[in-house]
Amino acid sequence: MPVELLGKSAEELREYVASLGERPFRAAQLYHALYAERRFEFAAMTNISATLRECLAQEARITPPRIARRFPSVDGSIRYLFSIGGPIGDEGAKPAQIEAVFMPREGRQTICISTQAGCAVDCHFCLTAQLGLIRNLTAGEIVGQVLVALEENRERLAPQTNVVLMGQGEPLLNYDATMAAVRILLDPKGVALAPRHVTLSTSGIVPGIQRLGQEKIRPSLAISLNASNDEQRNAIMPINRKYPLDVLLDACRRYPLRPREYFTFEYVLLGGVNDTPEDARRVVRLIAHIRAKVNLIPWNPGNLPYRAPTAENIEEFQRTLVDKGVPTFVRYSRGQDVFAACGQLALMETPSPFVALQ
Ligand code: SF4
Repeated sequence: MPVELLGKSAEELREYVASLGERPFRAAQLYHALYAERRFEFAAMTNISATLRECLAQEARITPPRIARRFPSVDGSIRYLFSIGGPIGDEGAKPAQIEAVFMPREGRQTICISTQAGCAVDCHFCLTAQLGLIRNLTAGEIVGQVLVALEENRERLAPQTNVVLMGQGEPLLNYDATMAAVRILLDPKGVALAPRHVTLSTSGIVPGIQRLGQEKIRPSLAISLNASNDEQRNAIMPINRKYPLDVLLDACRRYPLRPREYFTFEYVLLGGVNDTPEDARRVVRLIAHIRAKVNLIPWNPGNLPYRAPTAENIEEFQRTLVDKGVPTFVRYSRGQDVFAACGQLALMETPSPFVALQ
């Protein structure tokens, strides 16, 4: 059976190449071709010898996520629906569909990727939750989304690439594969992204946050907060019953932030649910003494029973936090015309009783 190479670390490739009787520098060439040059065909790896290329074509394979559909937005973003895994009965992993988004901006691009197909966390404002967990992605399927999105947009790439792990899935519930992919993304000999340009977003899985704090190489951390007290958070994020706010924020206070490192708290503003001035004042108290910024994300009306906050509430919420010294930004989600919320594309392709799609 051919060996899958996408997602293998430099060390794993060294071991693999040694098993073929090749010298270690061949592994470094292969690693460079895969992750720095984004070559998915052995024949295109002109930095390695023709003999090794022929051998790899027999013995190994590279399987990037396949683009099932592209959804270009008027704002320049492209949402990708990827097919992963083999057909049922194949030796590959279970087939599934996942999403990634490529968002170009002045001087940089941001790529939002998935770490699981579906999700078990069940946040009530999230369409991915309705899929349930289909399966964990492999390291190759995670890093492959970035490589394919970069390669697809090769002609218009800006100098800086940001990656956010905010698509389908809870990254800290697929810890090992996610971190294997992140190490390749952050490796100067791999995809070569800066740690401050890669952000892992969690719903608040406390043991995962503690584990991440011990990593030598790690991405920036964003916490999906979305509520100003436990009652509110229990109602929209059932994970809060397991890791309530005092436990979650205590883990943040104990996290060994490095100089210039800070948390990002994501706060989806749901009209009439969590967007009052009193909520803003409670958020200030909750995150006191944590080096953090806050991103306010006004809800987009869609298929779920929530409404958008008013412009006045957004402005007042932001002003309350800023006046108390908390750097706070309002972020509108990109690509709204092509199904903006995570999970929407996969739901569209998966017959579901939950959504009526336009
Ligand atoms: S918001 Fe994230 S963690 Fe929550 S259900 Fe959706 S994908 Fe899972």
